[in-house]
Amino acid sequence: MRLTYTIHYVYVTMKRLKKAVDEMDTENSGSEKTDKLEGVAAEPAAEMDPTKTSYPNKNYYTYKKYHFKCRKCGWEGLGADTVVVGDAINCEVIGCPKCRWLIEHISFPTTAEVLKYGSAEDKKRAQGWVEREKRRIADWDEKWTKYPDLESPDQLPDIDADEIIISLREEGIGKTNTKDDIWENAFLVFYWGEREIWRVPAWFEYYNHYLTWGEILKEKYGERLVDFEAKETVDLGGDSFSAFKKVREFRASLSKERSR
Ligand SMILES: [Zn+2]
Repeated sequence: MRLTYTIHYVYVTMKRLKKAVDEMDTENSGSEKTDKLEGVAAEPAAEMDPTKTSYPNKNYYTYKKYHFKCRKCGWEGLGADTVVVGDAINCEVIGCPKCRWLIEHISFPTTAEVLKYGSAEDKKRAQGWVEREKRRIADWDEKWTKYPDLESPDQLPDIDADEIIISLREEGIGKTNTKDDIWENAFLVFYWGEREIWRVPAWFEYYNHYLTWGEILKEKYGERLVDFEAKETVDLGGDSFSAFKKVREFRASLSKERSR
């Protein structure tokens, strides 16, 4: 099922993040050695292949210790003597100090690299990112444990009515306690009239899930389900051009089935 796949995907992503955070913790655990650029001292030119662009320990902090050669004018020297000739979203471009020819792209540091090589101030900031990420993962786990996804008709209550309209409403999107998580208090709530029958944490672009939930509602209530209402919001449609069309088609199919 598509929904299960997506939920699984989100969990896998979260697990990866968790792993990355754990690794940062391990790398960062009380080792004074990591404060110094150990093992990355400049190597003599003769031992380095100037055409090689990838060295195992080279990063934003350590490239200055490496030896480079300009492919245009033949200048040779340390990364520290190169000049920044440009930058992109994720990297800085270093060039030859003599002719400004591009020498290399240097990726901006990852959180793990900041924790390992950064200044005391940078490390403190990076530690803040790690803490925030941990909190976010814990909150996410807690929320999905408390409000599990709707995956089966058995989770839904029996409703004694000939015609059933279920409304899916967004609640609390953008209302936060903290400034960095706009989804913190956000839910998608299923209502029958004013009675809440299910609730899941909300997220961006959920129309696919709407469709899956619609099938589950259909399975549960059969032809008595006459509509599964949802407002056509930014968060329902997300970046998809066909989202609202699919949602409308689904809703139309409910009334069609009934009139057959
Ligand atoms: Zn040059």
